[in-house]
Amino acid sequence: MRANSLLAGSALLAVLGSPALAQTGAAAAPADSADSTVTMLVSRLDLDKYKATIKGLTQFGDRRQGTDRNRAAVDWIEAQLKSYGCPTERLKYDYVTPQRGTTAGGRGGRGAGGGRGANQGNKRPGQGGSQIFGTAARTGVNNDPNLQPDEKLRALNSQPSTDGPREEVYCTKVGSRTPGEMYIIGAHMDGLGWGEAANDDGSGTALVIELARVFSGPDVQTDRTIRFALWNNEESGLYGARAYVEQRQALQGKESPAGSGKYPEPKWLGMIQHDMMMFDHGMPGPDGKVAADQRREADVNIEFQSSSKMAAESQRLAWTVKAANEKYATDYPAAVGPHMTNTDSTPFMDVVPSISLRENERGAQIGGGWDPHWHQPTDLFSTFSDADFRLGLNAAQSTLGAIAQLTGATLKK
Ligand SMILES: [Zn+2]
Repeated sequence: MRANSLLAGSALLAVLGSPALAQTGAAAAPADSADSTVTMLVSRLDLDKYKATIKGLTQFGDRRQGTDRNRAAVDWIEAQLKSYGCPTERLKYDYVTPQRGTTAGGRGGRGAGGGRGANQGNKRPGQGGSQIFGTAARTGVNNDPNLQPDEKLRALNSQPSTDGPREEVYCTKVGSRTPGEMYIIGAHMDGLGWGEAANDDGSGTALVIELARVFSGPDVQTDRTIRFALWNNEESGLYGARAYVEQRQALQGKESPAGSGKYPEPKWLGMIQHDMMMFDHGMPGPDGKVAADQRREADVNIEFQSSSKMAAESQRLAWTVKAANEKYATDYPAAVGPHMTNTDSTPFMDVVPSISLRENERGAQIGGGWDPHWHQPTDLFSTFSDADFRLGLNAAQSTLGAIAQLTGATLKK
């Protein structure tokens, strides 16, 4: 009904004879049909499906890299992607735990707050070039099995990690007009801390799987290619994403076999990472405690890295996702910041426009202890409410909307 009255209004304006308005009306027609395609695609996401995918991931506990539960999770993810019609491949690499003092950057969970409680009026440097303002709480990685009270889950998480061969899975929606160019949509599937890694990073992994489902719909076509990647070994220092960049960067845009129209590694146009998508309960109070409920001001934080070689292009990509959030997200807004850090978009950021989406800014807010479940035994499916899950869903709506536009998605009639 509303659409009809708007149409009547613009028809009236056209009759009134403003050439500028008439032109605007004519130009709006194709844009409107593109918008309605994107709206239709976004509507194929839903909270119950998103939650069910997170729940499915939690059956493998914390999915720590180098364990049977991690390998079983890779198999499960691959089965989901295939069931949605998204053809999968695996990237293989070897992982050896670095000697102390020679670790690559990107370890999560280094103490930021040191247990400091009230330090209002203080400011100190955080990771990625950020500044941590206000009150902060302790952060770190739980390595104590006895802090997991659920005996079944403790047993599930008990196998230690061993060095050796590693695999990670990705699937690809091939573009129908320009298959040799692609966007990469990523999240890390491994976790830590003797919980279920439901938020870090079941929430990002499920988002990527859900986007693969929607874009693989039999009636969905995109001009350009989209790759959905579930990185392994993020928590040990971004090794899975680094291995991908090392092995595949030089293959970009090469048709193989020549004349086949096939591009095993299309040229990278952008990389969008999703890491911890659900919990935005605000800053710790003076007592170091974080509120029990999602704050009313909760938002999706889109970050680029201002010190990277592709800073200008990455910033542009960030604003594109922010605009898609305003257009297509249903419940929560998005904010853009310049301090992307400690996630799988980092190995890409000097090569291709790269951004991350999160529940909070990684340096200033996660680093300040805003998520008390981070790498803890309480990162469980049951910890989170629908208001939390919905923040992850809104991030999915934002990325889906942006990528549908950027890849020229259309629906076959
Ligand atoms: Zn993470």
